[in-house]
Amino acid sequence: MAEDKNKNKKEEYEQICYICRRPESKTGRMITMPGNICICNDCMQRTMDQMNQGFPYGGFNMMGFGVPPVDQNEQERPGYQKIKKPGNDEQSTPVIDIHSIPAPHQINKRLNEYVVGQDRAKKIISVAVYNHYKRICAEEDGEVEIEKSNMLMIGPTGSGKTYLVKTLAKLLDVPLAIADATSLTEAGYIGDDIESVVSKLLAAADNDVERAQRGIIYIDEIDKLAKKKNTNQRDVSGEAVQQGLLKLLEGAEIEVPVGANSKNAMVPLKTVNTKDILFICGGAFPDLEEIIKERLREKSSMGFQAQLRDHYDKEQDLLRYVQIEDLRTFGMIPEFLGRLPIVYTLEPMSRDILIRVLTEPKNAIVRQYQKLLAMDEVDLCFEPGALRAIAELAMKKNTGARALRAIIEEFMLDIMYEIPKDDNIGRVTITESYIERKGGPLIETRGYLALEG
Ligand code: ADP
Repeated sequence: MAEDKNKNKKEEYEQICYICRRPESKTGRMITMPGNICICNDCMQRTMDQMNQGFPYGGFNMMGFGVPPVDQNEQERPGYQKIKKPGNDEQSTPVIDIHSIPAPHQINKRLNEYVVGQDRAKKIISVAVYNHYKRICAEEDGEVEIEKSNMLMIGPTGSGKTYLVKTLAKLLDVPLAIADATSLTEAGYIGDDIESVVSKLLAAADNDVERAQRGIIYIDEIDKLAKKKNTNQRDVSGEAVQQGLLKLLEGAEIEVPVGANSKNAMVPLKTVNTKDILFICGGAFPDLEEIIKERLREKSSMGFQAQLRDHYDKEQDLLRYVQIEDLRTFGMIPEFLGRLPIVYTLEPMSRDILIRVLTEPKNAIVRQYQKLLAMDEVDLCFEPGALRAIAELAMKKNTGARALRAIIEEFMLDIMYEIPKDDNIGRVTITESYIERKGGPLIETRGYLALEG
């Protein structure tokens, strides 16, 4: 009886694949091996394939006999993986030269070509990055040790957090890995383990360890790691991930699987040191404004400076008053915040900034469409009122600059469909009334334009 009960109890739980950690409901039936180890069919198949391809003598049959080497070029064998020895690599970038690091004003100038507004953030990033690479160049003399310039970036959705980091990595020509904090879990639980962020960076650096060690890791949605309030359960995807990130942020030697997301016996490993990797964490931190407001109110309700309780309600950009204590109240642990010494905020996107985002950056959306239509020898113009109306529509969506592309795309669809039909069209003007759905775009023929010109 007791045995039956135990068996039933066992069946209440799903089996988990020992290699890929997926549950039985996703993988189908598993193969159980001695020691109660379960392996799903996919992993078993992959393991067999890898044994067949990666065995030193070109093949491996199930009888256990190695197939003698055939006349083939080892490097052409499928699945053949070559691992570079660290430091033995002629092509990897040399250690950064202090004179080749662009000065903060140069970094800022380049950022300006792509990123509109956010002047304070751009300035802070430029200095932090400059110092970061100076720190890498600085000799360790055992006396003054320069602290890492890891950053915490706070800003509403669509304010350009990811875009800033992407642009920065492109300008500096360093590899970049973008990870989502929500998918990370403590090692051993379903989800990506924390070290997977380093393996993403290694992949972005084409498995060149030296390059990866000077790269940037951006962890988005970091606010989702806040400590859960009023819970007795183990918080495997929140606080535990903050704890797990500590050693990465500070600098640790991590064994990273090459070409795979999880470690297993069949994947070669490389050691990556994270001490020179620049970590940037970003998040929207909803409700942080309330916490800041509450703190400011408490402070200002004392003494002569007592202000009305609703004084801060009208403030548009409360986030810029953020202090470490607010982030702690939000649920970030002090050790984690201690390893992100540079904290800054991005401004919410105003209508004017959105209009500039449409037209000013080197790869602005409007310019991209103009280039597309120019290939059909058609001019594309936007009335200033139309740009304003698009920005206003985007403001209503509350997703910052992210909404702009979808809105323009919607209005451009018909135009891009119709134009190639008619060779006579020479110019299309997107009018305010077209965006407000009260009229259509202005179409001018080549003949008319010739007459006008
Ligand atoms: P976030 O990460 O803050 O949610 P993103 O960086 O993903 O926002 O921004 C979405 C898109 O909006 C970007 O791909 C970029 O094209 C545009 N964008 C956002 N902010 C700016 C800006 N300040 N300047 C130019 N383009 C921007």
